[in-house]
Amino acid sequence: MKNKQTIREQFFSLLGQTSPSPLGIEIQKAEGVFLLSSTGKRYLDLISGVSVSHVGHARPEVIKAIEDQARNHLHLMVYGELIQQPQVHLASLLTEHLPASLNSIYFVNSGSEANEAALKLAKRVTGRHKVVCFQDAYHGSTHGALSVMGNETFRSAFRPLLPGVTALHFNHTKDLNLIDRHTACVIVEPIQAEAGVRLPESGFLEALRERCDRTGTLLIFDEIQTGFGRTGRLFAMQKYGVIPDMVTLAKALGGGMPLGALACNKQLMDAWKSAPVLGHITTFGGHPVSCAAGAAAFRVLLKEGWTEEVSDKANFLKEALIPHPAVKEVRGEGLLLAVELGDAKKVQAIIHLLLEEGAMADWFLYCDTAFRIAPPLCISKEELALTVKIVLAALDKLK
Ligand code: PLP
Repeated sequence: MKNKQTIREQFFSLLGQTSPSPLGIEIQKAEGVFLLSSTGKRYLDLISGVSVSHVGHARPEVIKAIEDQARNHLHLMVYGELIQQPQVHLASLLTEHLPASLNSIYFVNSGSEANEAALKLAKRVTGRHKVVCFQDAYHGSTHGALSVMGNETFRSAFRPLLPGVTALHFNHTKDLNLIDRHTACVIVEPIQAEAGVRLPESGFLEALRERCDRTGTLLIFDEIQTGFGRTGRLFAMQKYGVIPDMVTLAKALGGGMPLGALACNKQLMDAWKSAPVLGHITTFGGHPVSCAAGAAAFRVLLKEGWTEEVSDKANFLKEALIPHPAVKEVRGEGLLLAVELGDAKKVQAIIHLLLEEGAMADWFLYCDTAFRIAPPLCISKEELALTVKIVLAALDKLK
């Protein structure tokens, strides 16, 4: 009988899982940088829901915005027909802080959907169909996003995918010559997160921008994981001084609620209106509660000045972890860190040792020799010191 099952048994029997051995810990509450399990164990959150919970869990301003908006109204009508204050307010905040050319926002529900929209808009505007992406890129799991995923292991079982896609090697400037006048767009993460945090080499993104300009190709930055202060600037593009034609956002955008967005120039965005009309539509995209939560979280982030503290916090972690003999390297930008152990078995072990010690860290999709440390940006000095204590204790136990 189903109702005789424990919640753990029901989790395994009633829900779809995507890995053979999920962590399977029941979280009952989350507050600040801590996750609290049903057994009363407290875990430091070193994942932030994969770059979502930048302002911490249960931030009062975000909760209030959700409650207030839920009282005003929930969903009203498919996206784009009615004027909804939360969407307008969040679009205004975003465009205020993005480069001036990215002055129009299209809201969707997720990162994958934002990338789907960007790829479609590029094809529609250029009249071209070829798309360039990069090896080891992750842009989402829907068919279009999967087509520009730079990893055959995760992709091959789902063919046929979008035709005309070429994956170049990240940081190989010579390969950029393969972008030509038939290429509609290039989609790239300015920092490749799931590759194990691979940073762009000096001049690479500039060369990419130049090649796109030369061939009339639209450049799409996927800042779904790097956005909203994670790298020490509000958006990674500001760090590298390269402005794309479109940027896709999600994860931290919704302040813990599901939300994605495509930002580009209004002239480009207007292409959705014609040939065909309703070029991209969504029922729930830009849900008013998600937009209200996102705007509240963005305001908190700006008010608290956490983005400016990211580099110091990251340096503190790096300096404490690098000397440990098990650590080969700590790479990354801001609070998007990969701790390289040089051994996949050790990475499997460390995740479980960290849980024992009271911290939740994470793997990378395409790099099995490093683990991720990406805590909420609100993490305090004391909490950073606790992080170091826990991570060093877990590293000490590695065999
Ligand atoms: N792009 C990047 C860089 C991501 O890290 C992710 C998710 O991990 C996505 C896109 C897909 O976002 P979502 O899971 O919201 O569809």
